[in-house]
Amino acid sequence: MRLNNGDVVLCWPLALHVLTAGYFYSDGSRHEAIDLRTNQGGSVVKPVYAAEDGTVEETQTWDGHTKTGMQSYGTMIRIRHGDYRGVTLQTRYAHLSRLCVSKGQTVKEGQLIGYTGETGNISGAHLHFEVILGGNRRNPLVWLDDDFTTANTGVYTYQPGEYAASRPAQTAAPAAARLQTITIGPVSQGDADAILALCKERSLDQLGLYRSVWAEEVG
Ligand SMILES: [Zn+2]
Repeated sequence: MRLNNGDVVLCWPLALHVLTAGYFYSDGSRHEAIDLRTNQGGSVVKPVYAAEDGTVEETQTWDGHTKTGMQSYGTMIRIRHGDYRGVTLQTRYAHLSRLCVSKGQTVKEGQLIGYTGETGNISGAHLHFEVILGGNRRNPLVWLDDDFTTANTGVYTYQPGEYAASRPAQTAAPAAARLQTITIGPVSQGDADAILALCKERSLDQLGLYRSVWAEEVG
């Protein structure tokens, strides 16, 4: 979806929005994609939807055994969307069991394009989803809204300064953003640590809504 200001909000490629891996794996190594849970209700085969209007630029069918190179994606779809601020924008959907579109086909946002599966280099069924801007893989969560949960607390979400895309209907400021300033202090080191832990838990530090100052600075 394109907003009036040219920003993009992609639609979730699955009905279930549970992250099992983020842009970085829990060991810190680069994943440059997100993995979404597909195992629900006794099946790992779930409909996959186009994240935005576009054209199917590439499809691949897994050969059934190769787990390296492009075949590591298994059965895969790549869609090219409208350029974002003059830069190519693409999304990729991997480890599918079935394709419902073919190369060159025009698709609409939310259109069924395939079904999840367990093809390619995979340990445990999931959907691997990439956002590619100008040929570089970006954190997909920045292009999606915040309507998701993580499989566990170790799943990477955003780096400081990164945040979910918001839809026009969700532009109301969160309660925290409506506050001017809450100043607490002086406090003991133990209390300061507890407040910091709470702010981190609520991601207030990442949002720039937490700041600690030394007594001299307060004056
Ligand atoms: Zn992945």
